[in-house]
Amino acid sequence: MPIFVVQKHDARRLHYDFRLEVDGVLRSWAVPRGPSTNPSDKRLAVPVEDHSLEYADFEGVIGEGYGAGSVIVWDTGDYENAGRLPMAEALAEGHAVFELQGRKLRGRWALQRVADDRWLLIKAADEHADREHDLLADRPESALSGRTIEDLG
Ligand code: MN
Repeated sequence: MPIFVVQKHDARRLHYDFRLEVDGVLRSWAVPRGPSTNPSDKRLAVPVEDHSLEYADFEGVIGEGYGAGSVIVWDTGDYENAGRLPMAEALAEGHAVFELQGRKLRGRWALQRVADDRWLLIKAADEHADREHDLLADRPESALSGRTIEDLG
């Protein structure tokens, strides 16, 4: 099964990089406010450059230059394409649905393109939806190491 990863990235502005393995690379979106388990929240997701699969478990401090700042793997796991089309085609069409099997994020999610450089990341209303809790605040630690962004300094 392909993997997904959400890296919390304390760059010039804190954001979460949401990445899906598609055809051997990590297709990537920067999500300024991070994923929400509340189906009413439609989180802006700005497409950014693909990353190599090797980057999926990267945690550490990026030095000077673009993206400088600390990175933790906030969540990771497998995902399953829940749409009719292969993932690359679904993304080319601007609408993908998938089931996440992460340590924190679970269930069905959608990525919907609303403009060339603007997508929305939306939780579907299934048994894993949660309108009460804020996972980003409740579970700030790395899914791999337990460290927080603050631990990295
Ligand atoms: Mn980033």
